[in-house]
Amino acid sequence: MESQIVLDTFIKETGGYVASQLEACTRCGMCAEACHFYQATGNPEYAPVWKIELLKRAYEQRFTLVGKAKLLLGIDKSITDTDIADFSKIVYEACTMCNKCSMVCPMGIQLGPLIHEVRSGFSEAGVVPADLMAAVEKQVEEGSPLGVTDDVYESRLEWVADEWEVELPMDVKGADTLVIFSSIEIMKFPENIAAIAKILNAAGENWTLSKKAREVVNFGFYEGNEERTIMFLQRVFDGAIELGVKKIVVTECGHAYDALRWTSYNLMDVPKGIEITHIVGLIGDYLRTGKIKLKEGAFNDGVVTFHDACKIQRRGGHIKEPREILHVLSPDAFKEMSPSHEESICCGGGGGVIAIKEADPIRYAAFGLKIDQMEKIGATTVVMSCSNCRLQFTDCVQHFNLDVKVAGLSQMVADALVE
Ligand code: SF4
Ligand code: SF4
Repeated sequence: MESQIVLDTFIKETGGYVASQLEACTRCGMCAEACHFYQATGNPEYAPVWKIELLKRAYEQRFTLVGKAKLLLGIDKSITDTDIADFSKIVYEACTMCNKCSMVCPMGIQLGPLIHEVRSGFSEAGVVPADLMAAVEKQVEEGSPLGVTDDVYESRLEWVADEWEVELPMDVKGADTLVIFSSIEIMKFPENIAAIAKILNAAGENWTLSKKAREVVNFGFYEGNEERTIMFLQRVFDGAIELGVKKIVVTECGHAYDALRWTSYNLMDVPKGIEITHIVGLIGDYLRTGKIKLKEGAFNDGVVTFHDACKIQRRGGHIKEPREILHVLSPDAFKEMSPSHEESICCGGGGGVIAIKEADPIRYAAFGLKIDQMEKIGATTVVMSCSNCRLQFTDCVQHFNLDVKVAGLSQMVADALVE
């Protein structure tokens, strides 16, 4: 029975830390208003506290006297397969793991990681949306959820090098820096590869790409499956070890950055002596240290704004760098949305949501909040540093027929380089 597997996984995962978090919840409901899915729909099932309801129920019924008594007296119900199916839809389709809810919880409960635990239980029981699971399986079998096999990778890079006339060093042993793109960039935004290569070459970075470590996205992480998360992380680390690099740079992908930069340390032996950073941090350093120079006011038309990604800005802290860059590129045109920085509203497409077709209506509904934000300041260009957000913005701009240009930050930097 699926519910039994989920229950067993929840019990296994509920150590002292998780238990203390669950005990601390006062059910005040303040987290609801922080969630873009709840805000967009008013559906109480999308409140963050409801998304951890099964975890809480499993904990109470197994470990607390009150929970056991409630179950015996029939006040509480045991978890059923129907509950599992319903909640699977909620936690995969209406949660981007953006963790904004944790910022408002007066008890300091880390809701995002708890929801990840819920996904883990569902993954164990095999109750994961089919579209997401198809992408996971593709990454297991082909190395990439978007079909970037060895051959596709090579031919795609060859084409990028020709089309944009950039040098793309491959498998250079002894290079300082390994740069890994996401398959979204490789397949949907190839211009990003050329842009980032141009910046790295201009800064004189001793860098390389790797055939072994050719995909930074981690669909095991979206799924909540530890074994597959480790498998995809290991591929990256194997590539880095083989080439002997000192640094791994994650390009414009937020969840991949989270998985590699933080989650990896809780799951496995991360090779020592390798710095893991994000391309935005690196570009910020180049600018501060004068390794690259940008044409001032290169994008100074209309109203330019920046969308902070949950994993790169809120979690990763790369909040200053995009602003420093945009104050050079768009000194008069740059305007902040509200809220922004670490309090930014999620785009609605992260956490694997954009890969699930059935989630389209709720994904578009959540994007309504971004539309409001952009309209309030009259934005004509919205810039971001995550290709998953960029995919969501690009798709939604088309879906809603909006008159807003969607731009990648690296792309703008590359276009404004003073050679
Ligand atoms: S804000 Fe915190 S304490 Fe309040 S309901 Fe949400 S998780 Fe519980
Ligand atoms: S992590 Fe983000 S999407 Fe998920 S419940 Fe919290 S606020 Fe909502």
